[in-house]
Amino acid sequence: LSTDSDVVHRESESISKKSLRSNAEKFEFQAEVSRLMDIIINSLYSNKDIFLRELISNASDALDKIRFLALTDKEVLGEGDTAKLEIQIKLDKAKKILSIRDRGIGMTKEDLIKNLGTIAKSGTSAFVEKMQSSGDLNLIGQFGVGFYSAYLVADYIEADGKFAVSEDTWNEPLGRGTEIRLHLRDEAGEYLEESKLKDLVKRYSEFINFPIHLWASKE
Ligand code: ADP
Ligand code: MG
Repeated sequence: LSTDSDVVHRESESISKKSLRSNAEKFEFQAEVSRLMDIIINSLYSNKDIFLRELISNASDALDKIRFLALTDKEVLGEGDTAKLEIQIKLDKAKKILSIRDRGIGMTKEDLIKNLGTIAKSGTSAFVEKMQSSGDLNLIGQFGVGFYSAYLVADYIEADGKFAVSEDTWNEPLGRGTEIRLHLRDEAGEYLEESKLKDLVKRYSEFINFPIHLWASKE
């Protein structure tokens, strides 16, 4: 088992095994999660953009949490901690990987498995039931569809927790926080366009209290 890379994985025919990190530990989703993802993928197909809204909102929640912790714990966000409370988005066009990174509260291995592998939120279960019985697309606006909406555009997602060591270094190692790497599906080519991402970030940043930075590789 590797401690530095836990992966939330869903079987997909289009997965290119070569592109996956060999040291990654893989987990199966709870059956209910697979059902939810099928519903999300089928019902949101023409509304794929929201995956970015959901991931930005998770990053923002994580930053809120660390800021809140810092109120009572001086060690948190202390002097030595120079990591900015911001959201970073990076597009690697060659590898077709879109990464969303924050220096928020982070997730331990257990958190990753529990938060992303099972349906813990009562709201999500309610969403699955309502969506299945009614097929009403308006429900999507009422329920945050969360992390799983990323499967609209990715066939494989890596989620690195606190101790991530990344092959593909950004400005500095992750340290505290979370990095979500989306291996984009072939059909999600529009998200390889910097202008498309810029537009989305602009639209969603309106509701976010932290700066969002976007980098895109040229090729
Ligand atoms: P929600 O945000 O409504 O709780 P999500 O499916 O979006 O549902 O996320 C599930 C959980 O995973 C979150 O509640 C949070 O605990 C955890 N999580 C997701 N993204 C992050 C992140 N960037 N940093 C820390 N925890 C996260
Ligand atoms: Mg969320």
